[in-house]
Amino acid sequence: MIQPICLCGEPLQSGANYCTLCGREVRQICPVCFEERRLLHRPGGSPSSWCLARGELLNACVRCGRWLQTGISSCPDPNCGGVVEPVWPASVGKSPNGAGRTNGWQWPSVWDRHNPAHKAPVIGGWQSSSTVYAAFLAHGRLYAWTGDALLSPDPPGASTQDSRDAWRCWLGFGSDPEPAFAASSLAALLGGAAILAARNDFVVAGLYTGKAIEAVRMNTGTPIAHTASALYWAGWAEGAEGAALWYAPVSPVWRNTAAKRATQSTREMAPRRGSKMLIDGDTAYWVSEGGVLCALNCTTGEAATLTAALAGQHVGWCDARGVRTVTAGADGIRVALDPVVQDGLLREAAGGDGPLRDLFMADGLTAVVGDTVVTLDSHTGYVQGGGRFNGQWIAGAIAPAESEAPDQEPRLLMLTRDGEDGSLVALRPSSGGEEFVWRARGIRPIGLLTAGSMLSVVHDRGTVTIGT
Ligand SMILES: [Zn+2]
Ligand SMILES: [Zn+2]
Ligand SMILES: [Zn+2]
Repeated sequence: MIQPICLCGEPLQSGANYCTLCGREVRQICPVCFEERRLLHRPGGSPSSWCLARGELLNACVRCGRWLQTGISSCPDPNCGGVVEPVWPASVGKSPNGAGRTNGWQWPSVWDRHNPAHKAPVIGGWQSSSTVYAAFLAHGRLYAWTGDALLSPDPPGASTQDSRDAWRCWLGFGSDPEPAFAASSLAALLGGAAILAARNDFVVAGLYTGKAIEAVRMNTGTPIAHTASALYWAGWAEGAEGAALWYAPVSPVWRNTAAKRATQSTREMAPRRGSKMLIDGDTAYWVSEGGVLCALNCTTGEAATLTAALAGQHVGWCDARGVRTVTAGADGIRVALDPVVQDGLLREAAGGDGPLRDLFMADGLTAVVGDTVVTLDSHTGYVQGGGRFNGQWIAGAIAPAESEAPDQEPRLLMLTRDGEDGSLVALRPSSGGEEFVWRARGIRPIGLLTAGSMLSVVHDRGTVTIGT
C-alpha cells in the first residue's frame, strides 16, 4: 500500500479527512451509502471503485478525484467541472461506438521482431470446466458467461480451473445466450451491471464480487440487438406484441435498472436479430431489416429514421458528430467519410471487395476488413495500405503505438481461426508487414479483449492472457 498524498503533495496522516497543509478534503463521504469515508481517487491509488457497504459502482472525477454515483458525467464542484468516468478501462470486445479501439492498451514495441530488445509475448490463461459463451474485462477483473452463471475467476486471470471460491452470479433458469448474437455483442456494460442477451430475455447482472448476487430479468422479451454507453442502454426485443425498442438510463443502484419503451419507434425499424447496434453518449444507431438507418435519442426517448432503405447498408462507427455507414454490395465495400445528415450528400471511399467482416477507426486511419484488409485515410479516403488474414475472421482491434516507439504506427490486431488453430497477428497498415503474437492448436477463439495493460483472447473453454 502506497502512502496517500494530497493534490498539493503533502503526505497524509493515517485516517486524516483533511490535508494539514492546504486544508483540502482528502477523504470524502461515500455518495452511495453516506456511511464510509473513502480516499479521493488517485491514479494507481485506489484499488476498488465499489461502495463496499452497498456493492454499487462509483465513478471518479479525473481532475479532483471525487467519487460520484454512476450517471453523473461532469464534476459538480463549481471549481472543478472535470470529466467523471469509470476508473478502470473496460472491454466486451468491440467498443460500443464501433471504432474498435483498445481502451488504453498499446502495442508493445518489444514484440517487434526487428527491435534489438525483442521479447516474445508471455502467455497465461484461465480454463473453464464448461463452455464459455462470452467474456469481458471491467472494474479491473475478468468476467465470463458460462452455463447459467456469470463468474469471475479469483484471482483475476489466474491459471487455475474455475475453483469453488470464484465469484458467481446466477442468471436464472434458461439463461443460455440468444444464439443469433456474436460473442462480442452478448454483453453490454452499464454502470455496475452487465446486461446480457439471454435466450428469452435481457438479464441484468450486478458485477460487485464482494458478495453473492442474483441477476434480474428485464421482462422485454427475446433479445434482437442491444448496446450500452456509460449513460444509457438501448435494445430491441421481440415481445408478445412484436418487436419493440427499449432504453434504460444507468442507475446508481444496479438492481433499479428499468427499461422504458421508446416513442415513435415502429416494428419496421427493428434490426435483423443479432445485428449490430452502436451508441455514443445518449444516441444509439442501427440499420433496420429493410436497410433503413435509424437512431434513438435516449435523453428524449425518441426514435427516428435517418436514411431511406439502402441494400447492404451497415452501421460503421459513431461519435458526437454522428454515425458513419458502410455499404457492401456487388460493386464492393464503400465507406462513408462523413457522418450521416438527413438528406445530405455523403462522400464515400472504396474499401475493397467481399462481404464486410469488420471496420476500425483510430487516429485518422480507417481499416476495412472484407476479403482482405484495406486501410484508408479517414479524411480523404485515399488508400494507405492494407494486408491479408488467413482463415476465418473472428475479431480485431486497432492499437496505438507506445509513445516511445520509433515508428509511431498503429497496429491492427487480427484474431482468426484456421481449421483447428486460433491465431493473433498484428498488421502494420502501411507496409502490410505482420507480427506474430499468439497461436494455439485446438482453440476456438470467439473474441478479443483489450483494456489498460490487459490483452486477452476469449475462446470457448476460457481465456488466454497475453502480456509483456
Ligand atoms: Zn494538501
Ligand atoms: Zn459506500
Ligand atoms: Zn472534480
